[in-house]
Amino acid sequence: LSPPGDTYGVLPRPCHALVLLNPQSGSGRALDDFQAVVQPMLAEADITTTVFVTERPHHAHEKVRDEDLSQWDTLVVMSGDGLLFEVVNGLMERPDWKEAMKKPLCILPGGSGNALAASINYYAGYDHVAKKKLLTNCTFILCKGLYTQMDLVSLSTASGKHFFSFLGFGWGFISDVDIDSEKYRWLGSARFTLGTLQCLAKLRVYQGRLSYLPMATEQGSSPAPRGPQAPVTNGHIPQPPGTDAPGSLPPDSLLVPLGQPVPAHWTVVPEEEFVLVYAIYQSHLGTNLLMAPAARLHDGCIHLFYMKAGISRVALLKLFLAMSRGTHLDLNCPHLCYVPVRAFRLEPRVAAGIMTVDGEALACEPVQG
Ligand code: ADP
Ligand code: MG
Repeated sequence: LSPPGDTYGVLPRPCHALVLLNPQSGSGRALDDFQAVVQPMLAEADITTTVFVTERPHHAHEKVRDEDLSQWDTLVVMSGDGLLFEVVNGLMERPDWKEAMKKPLCILPGGSGNALAASINYYAGYDHVAKKKLLTNCTFILCKGLYTQMDLVSLSTASGKHFFSFLGFGWGFISDVDIDSEKYRWLGSARFTLGTLQCLAKLRVYQGRLSYLPMATEQGSSPAPRGPQAPVTNGHIPQPPGTDAPGSLPPDSLLVPLGQPVPAHWTVVPEEEFVLVYAIYQSHLGTNLLMAPAARLHDGCIHLFYMKAGISRVALLKLFLAMSRGTHLDLNCPHLCYVPVRAFRLEPRVAAGIMTVDGEALACEPVQG
């Protein structure tokens, strides 16, 4: 997570943008929409574009990892959240990642999962919109050229994988919907509605242990949803020497290795049977799902949701319908817990179920971030 305190920048004019565009994203209209909707608006704003059309998965990752970035004032991603995930992780692989990550990034919704675009539209104070209207709003934000910091979460797995995630980590129900509904990509965001109904029909329980480091108590009311109050420290754990060499990645200062028990000041959730676990860092889970209304781009907070086993299908459906307005927590469902945290760990009991990082599938294994 980046340090607190927002500063704003403004893109120069004329402005040169590299646009990374996935022609297969969403219902396959990203290139047409770019030419018809985006380009005329950018031309008015004195923003010139070079379009890099991806030919395969990982193409954008390689492009930004090896690119001379000095020729661009901004990197624009026109796709779903998946392509931005590639771009962020490609930039973080560079030896000069610290400089590279200062390059302003922009997301223009072209995919079926456009959670970050929907979140930014919400933070900007615009009405809830989808499809072409959301694209127009996000293009307008790019035309204005104002940029600021965004939180990134460093996620690592037991098998040694390491990702930088800007949106969220999930396990269980929501991740199953996300991945199972990939085959309905042509439906656009309606794929999630159909997927939700299908996954409701075969509702499953996932076993594992969830632990977290609550946000500091002085920042709000009681951080733990229930259970004994654990003493809260700043959670800083001394790192082994040599981890801050030039070019090396930022240290995971809140975490201990996955092989060791979580630090004593963490909270361990007593229940070990879940319908879902979702750690989200931005407001929207999808265009029509306002999961964390309190989230902001750079609040330094992981908004952790978990649903305990035993919830009925009807109650679960009601929660998802309420989430379209962001009122799901008002239902006071005893199975749904929400806690703002600084770090979390999830240890599945068996390698069952799909995990997702920013909507991309991940094999099931212990994860922390
Ligand atoms: P959507 O929201 O529709 O899922 P994403 O931006 O999330 O759109 O992209 C989905 C996946 O497509 C990503 O995993 C990305 O790596 C992959 N991808 C990128 N370019 C291409 C391409 N040209 N053909 C097929 N897949 C691609
Ligand atoms: Mg996607």
